[in-house]
Amino acid sequence: MTLNSEKIRKDFKILDQIVNDEPLIYLDSAATSQKPQAVLDVVSDYYLHDNSNVHRGVHTLGERATQAYEASRDKVRAFINAGDRRQVIFTRGTTTSLNFIARMLEGRLDEGDEILITYMEHHSNVIPWQELAKRTGAKLRYIELDSEGRIDMDDARAKITSATKIVSVAHVSNVLGVVNPVKELGELAHAVGAYMISDGAQSVPHMSVDVQDLDVDFYAFSGHKMCAPTGIGVLYGRLSLLEELDPVEFGGEMIDFVGLQESTWAALPSKFEAGTPNIAGAIGLGAAIDYLNDLGMDNIHDHEQEIVNYLLPKLQAIPGIEIYGPSDPAEHTGVIAFNIIGLHPHDVSSAFDMQGIAVRAGHHCAQPLLKYIDQQSTARASFYLYNTLDEADKFIEAILATKEFFGLK
Ligand SMILES: *Cc1c(COP(=O)(O)O)cnc(C)c1O
Repeated sequence: MTLNSEKIRKDFKILDQIVNDEPLIYLDSAATSQKPQAVLDVVSDYYLHDNSNVHRGVHTLGERATQAYEASRDKVRAFINAGDRRQVIFTRGTTTSLNFIARMLEGRLDEGDEILITYMEHHSNVIPWQELAKRTGAKLRYIELDSEGRIDMDDARAKITSATKIVSVAHVSNVLGVVNPVKELGELAHAVGAYMISDGAQSVPHMSVDVQDLDVDFYAFSGHKMCAPTGIGVLYGRLSLLEELDPVEFGGEMIDFVGLQESTWAALPSKFEAGTPNIAGAIGLGAAIDYLNDLGMDNIHDHEQEIVNYLLPKLQAIPGIEIYGPSDPAEHTGVIAFNIIGLHPHDVSSAFDMQGIAVRAGHHCAQPLLKYIDQQSTARASFYLYNTLDEADKFIEAILATKEFFGLK
């Protein structure tokens, strides 16, 4: 294996516990990842020694907090290869970032304009566009998927027209585990003068991402799926757009001058960061990036791919299992949604829990996708840098045991 799991697992004490009389196997990192000791230490050290508001105090603690907060911005900039630190806006997470973008672009849409997304989007990349469409009279359209859940590029080419103003697509699906051709879609979008947006919640934690190479106008992701605390995330934007567009939240921090009737805005990135930010979260995100960089994003990606290459064929060989997304392991990330035919996914998830294995069941915040693939819900196992081949074996054993328990052949 590319990564030394034995060593890595010492950094995640939470994984070393017994659940329902069995050693915990955590296969729900697509919902949220666990946090390494280094991140917990940095957050607790910040509260123990430096806690203070940022960008305000002319005192030592305030300066330390500001320095650590801004150092994290530099780490994020380098991590996604943004051209300029002012392009990194701290938010609460992917959902907030996408909502911000939809608000920011409101003035650029007219009645009859089209917003184009796909059937595989997370609700946070669906509902902000539904609401924007309602406010502006724009039309929300969906790109079709092929039978294995890939974007149908012929349909994308047909639907990206001069009426298209926004194209917004997940970089990696949180259900199908498929990687989408964001760069190619961006080229099509830009050719008709549309904005290209991508939801990176399932990509940034698992592979090296270069926003300049992708050439997207906006990109969104969450800290908590990449070893950082909850409540911190990132909105990346093209510099010229961030400079032109108006803020969407107002209050302290984001102003330059405040009059009785009118105010002016601070320079980037403060313009989009109203109020006291999640300082500890941002510092924790910086520590998480250090941790991921230490392991190497390419190594993390290879490690997960090794697990998928090993696991997916074994899973496919079990009769009575339906697996969603690409059947070729090389095209499938560590997110594996499946059903045991004849069992409700909630029963599957409960049966797994009794065996110490945490998998998710439900619609995975992607109801339009579930309807599209004609399922009410699915179970989902998702793997990350701390999972092992041994756990993949236990997962297969649990499937067989669950089938047997429910009397399925
Ligand atoms: C988790 C997730 C989101 C939402 O992230 P939050 O951290 O809940 O805001 C959006 N898109 C995808 C693909 C996700 O996996």
